[in-house]
Amino acid sequence: MRAYTAGDTDVPLLEETIGRNFERIVARFPFHDALIEAAPVPGADARRWSYTKLNDDVDRLARALLALGVATGERIGIWSPNCAEWTILQYATAKIGAILVNVNPAYRSHELEFVVRQNGMRMLVTAPSDRSSDYTGMARQALADCPELKELVFLPDGGQPQLQAGDPERDAELTYAELLKRADDVGHSALKARLAGLDPQDPINLQYTSGTTGFPKGATLTHRNILNNGYSIGELLGYTEHDRVVIPVPFYHCFGMVIGNLNALSHGAATIIPGRSFTPAAALEAVQDFGGTSLYGVPTMFIAELALPDFASYDLSTLRTGVMAGSLCPIEVMNRVISEMNMKDVAICYGMTETSPVSTMTRAGDTMQQRTETVGRTMPQLESQVVDPVTGGVLERGDIGELCTRGYAVMKGYWNQPDKTAEAIDSDGWMHTGDLARMDADGYVVIEGRIKDMVIRGGENVYPREIEEFLYTHPAIRDVQVIGVPDAKYGEELMACIILKPGAEPLDAAAVAEFCRGKLAHYKIPRYVDVRESFPMTVSGKIRKVEMREEAVARLGL
Ligand code: AMP
Repeated sequence: MRAYTAGDTDVPLLEETIGRNFERIVARFPFHDALIEAAPVPGADARRWSYTKLNDDVDRLARALLALGVATGERIGIWSPNCAEWTILQYATAKIGAILVNVNPAYRSHELEFVVRQNGMRMLVTAPSDRSSDYTGMARQALADCPELKELVFLPDGGQPQLQAGDPERDAELTYAELLKRADDVGHSALKARLAGLDPQDPINLQYTSGTTGFPKGATLTHRNILNNGYSIGELLGYTEHDRVVIPVPFYHCFGMVIGNLNALSHGAATIIPGRSFTPAAALEAVQDFGGTSLYGVPTMFIAELALPDFASYDLSTLRTGVMAGSLCPIEVMNRVISEMNMKDVAICYGMTETSPVSTMTRAGDTMQQRTETVGRTMPQLESQVVDPVTGGVLERGDIGELCTRGYAVMKGYWNQPDKTAEAIDSDGWMHTGDLARMDADGYVVIEGRIKDMVIRGGENVYPREIEEFLYTHPAIRDVQVIGVPDAKYGEELMACIILKPGAEPLDAAAVAEFCRGKLAHYKIPRYVDVRESFPMTVSGKIRKVEMREEAVARLGL
């Protein structure tokens, strides 16, 4: 049987803009909670928005942007950790047809200026500086260096403007409060007219992605791409207006702004922001304090939550579902999330920025094995196939090859990079993911890892995931990543990078080899073991295996 499946087609796609969809939901659930931002410091009040209030604030910001003359299709960047204004700007730009550019909060000046220039960004909305990032200083530098950048807007800190307005002669700088005042210059009818003229097929969002290496490319996504993807994830999670979705994953990544915001807010559900960036305690507190029914995370976030010393003291009884995604989801972690966090319907989503993002997903009715060992099956209205990475031919079920996705969720292309777009999306419309996968007889997909992370040891293809899953069963191991390092004799050798459980006895290569003996083929037994405190990660929670490999090469002198 060919490794090809098409998702259900019984529910038609939404053919409306994000702004229209939002206004429909506001009219249906005007007084429901739409957005709650947990207090940044204990004792302070959380900030709350009903759908009506959120819509009012979105409209006010949208009119202010119109007052500055922002045209349809102009690029407005947001460079900030999670906060309520992020969501407000997401919807305000959507209502006026400006393209929101998600700028990674971990970027520094060089990367910021690259992104500003690459898309000709007109306005940058930036977070207040904090201990780790001088956002204000770097944004001002970009304003000085990049002529295309016309305006900087400084976000308030926890609701209070932290920065005073810039030098009076710098009329390019505005605080968020000053920007909002400009709304008085534009009436509601102008906003209505703008919204009515937008097309769901227009680009509305630019997300820079480089996987874990290389120059960032701007995945260009339309209303239709991301609204439908968000909405259909919520349909499969059974979301209603009674759901309360806790979002500790970054908004700058599609996990936060699509699987989180667009999904929840197209169902009348509440979005809950536990904090500016992830901490395991804040995520669980948000579930407890605000009655979270759904919790999101990349696998390492769930691992950190389960490892909290006072984990058992949190009341997680309101949880029902959630999403784990972003990188390989260890079976053991899925099992614990289901049984110990009360997330009985939790789903694994698989996808990439370029596919809006989700292309396959597990369903609540799947078997436990399907829900923990696979990334589910093809999403509605999409197609998946597994091809031979060399010939491009479709493989048989069970064979490992490159996973490809086709359908409404595939991006328009990389911004201003037709050559890169053509490398990623073939002439039949298939997005080539760069992920190795196999599809089983029932159409469920198992991800084996990135093509680039596959290790070839002495001519044998080794998929790190298989070894990682096995090592997770070791009682002393909390988290593990397997990488390939160069080797004169075998081409590559395996290294297991291990984070131990607190108080566990140290592990070395001999002990790991002993644990594997008789259970894994000899060529899959790691030659090296590196016990460490943490893994280098991207802000979106992806482990930087490339960096780990470089470190190992340097340390071992290979
Ligand atoms: P990004 O575009 O940053 O979201 O990264 C997309 C990549 O993340 C995919 O190509 C996969 O390599 C990886 N990924 C996302 N979700 C999963 C998942 N559930 N299981 C395994 N890998 C995943």
